[in-house]
Amino acid sequence: TEEMLLKSEKLSLVGELAAGLAHEIRNPLTTVKGLVQILQSSTEEKRELYTDIILDEINRINLIVSEFMVLAKPHAVYFSELNVTDILKTVIYLLEAEANLKNVVFMDDFSVEEAHVFGEKNQLTQVFINLFKNAMEALPHGGIIRVRTRRSGDNIVLSIEDNGVGMDEEQVKRIGEPFYTTKETGTGLGLMVSYRIIQNHKGSMTVQSELNKGTSFNISLPIFNGQQNKLEEKYNEV
Ligand code: ADP
Ligand code: MG
Repeated sequence: TEEMLLKSEKLSLVGELAAGLAHEIRNPLTTVKGLVQILQSSTEEKRELYTDIILDEINRINLIVSEFMVLAKPHAVYFSELNVTDILKTVIYLLEAEANLKNVVFMDDFSVEEAHVFGEKNQLTQVFINLFKNAMEALPHGGIIRVRTRRSGDNIVLSIEDNGVGMDEEQVKRIGEPFYTTKETGTGLGLMVSYRIIQNHKGSMTVQSELNKGTSFNISLPIFNGQQNKLEEKYNEV
């Protein structure tokens, strides 16, 4: 039946994710194991170097696991009526110092100040952090990140646009694939997690990008209509 099919599709996705996760975690673990084995017989100088590498690798494992945990119900998942403009403002406020250091300027145009949706605050916050971080990372020499909100029918559309390195068609096709990254220390999990979260909010996320010109992500979320909380909202599993 259809439902069974869906279930087996879900299982294979989980299997794929698990395989990828195992791979991504095993790599740094192998490094750590190897270094620990030679640590005792190493010179003082080498020991310092090795412990630095070990710490880096452990931090990487931590990062991968915490990016995943956003999907794995670490806290109670609580949907409520939220103003996404407020969440965007908070995230911009959180990232402003880091952006300043990188010569990145946020420019906002919140044409809908009262953008109410039915959502999970921690998760939407995470999506915006992921997108802003990517935008900053796409601006190695600084630049502008434009943030807009507008209304379109029964939806709020948020757009986050940078004038950074951009992506070619191949890249655009691949983003959101688990572990797909072009960054040396990237995890390739941010967009996968973000797409999932937006899907679970019955919204959609699209991207437009041009190499060396910039990238814009558009998120569309249904406006809160007082009815959504009556439907039993459950957070879907990966
Ligand atoms: P990560 O940031 O760890 O690489 P993400 O899932 O957040 O993982 O992003 C995946 C890839 O998508 C990035 O490595 C990068 O190649 C591309 N990407 C995402 N956002 C942008 C952007 N704003 N500009 C250019 N490339 C981007
Ligand atoms: Mg990222």
